[in-house]
Order: sequence, then structure tokens, then C-alpha cells
Amino acid sequence: MTDCLFCRIVAGDIPSRQLWSDDRAIAFLDLNPWQLGHSLVIPRRHVVDGRQDTEAWREVAAGLTAVAQLVQDRLGASGVNFLANSGAVAGQEVFHFHVHVIPRYDDNPGMAGLSRRDPQAAADLDGLAARLSG
Ligand code: 5GP
Ligand code: ZN
Repeated sequence: MTDCLFCRIVAGDIPSRQLWSDDRAIAFLDLNPWQLGHSLVIPRRHVVDGRQDTEAWREVAAGLTAVAQLVQDRLGASGVNFLANSGAVAGQEVFHFHVHVIPRYDDNPGMAGLSRRDPQAAADLDGLAARLSG
């Protein structure tokens, strides 16, 4: 879909800081991270959200574990939140299925760390992408 932001990222028409990909899904850094290394995993095909599409979850599954492992190994994350906002009422703003992988660190535990954008985590997305990819 040419009017879908994430389809355009999949197509390479809009740049993203990609961390991982396979033939069914890609993972890239979120532009407005809540935590250092906050990433999105999306299926290559256009799916609005995951509520009625079991296959979409299968498509992103390998990326979810890959990114969780990357942020643990390279950024020292002690945990992650996997989050899929589904429907506008749930806070979904981009209507192409995506699962947030939000790394969590020992100095900022609990649900409070999920409630807002962190400008510090957005300070050097290029440097971060270099640490996480390759
Ligand atoms: P939602 O609220 O739909 O669950 O999350 C959409 C996410 O996409 C937000 O966290 C937002 O920061 C991120 N986002 C929106 N536009 C772009 C973009 O052009 N590039 C990247 N990398 N992330 C984006
Ligand atoms: Zn799309």
C-alpha cells in the first residue's frame, strides 16, 4: 500500500534504521523511543493489526526474539516489553501491524518506564543502529 508509512519503509522509499530482516519481516529503531533501543518488528506484507491475523504473529516472531537478544547482548537490557497496540482506542497510530520491543534496564524498572518518550534514548539513533546491526 503506497499510502502506508510502514509499507513505504519495507519498500525502502522511506529510510529506517534497520536492525534485522528476513523474507517475511523487518525490524528497525523507533523514531521516538521510550527506552534506549526501542524497536519495531513488522511484517513485510500489509496487515492492519494482529487481532484477526494469526499468520502475522508468526511472521514477526523470529524478529521479536532476534531483537530481544540483540538488546540484551549489545545494550545490556535486563528485560523487554513486547507491545502491540491494536486499534486506535488502544493507542495504535500506524495501521500496519507492528510489535514494539522496548528494552528495559535495571535503573528504570516497572511500568513507569513505558509511559513517555525519552529524548536521551533518541539522542544518537545512528550510533545505536551501528551497535545493534551487523
Ligand atoms: P503505535 O502508536 O501505532 O503503536 O506506534 C507507532 C510507532 O511508530 C511510534 O512509537 C512512533 O514513534 C513510530 N514511528 C512513527 N513514524 C515513524 C517513522 O517514520 N519511522 C520510525 N522508525 N518510527 C516511526
Ligand atoms: Zn502497510
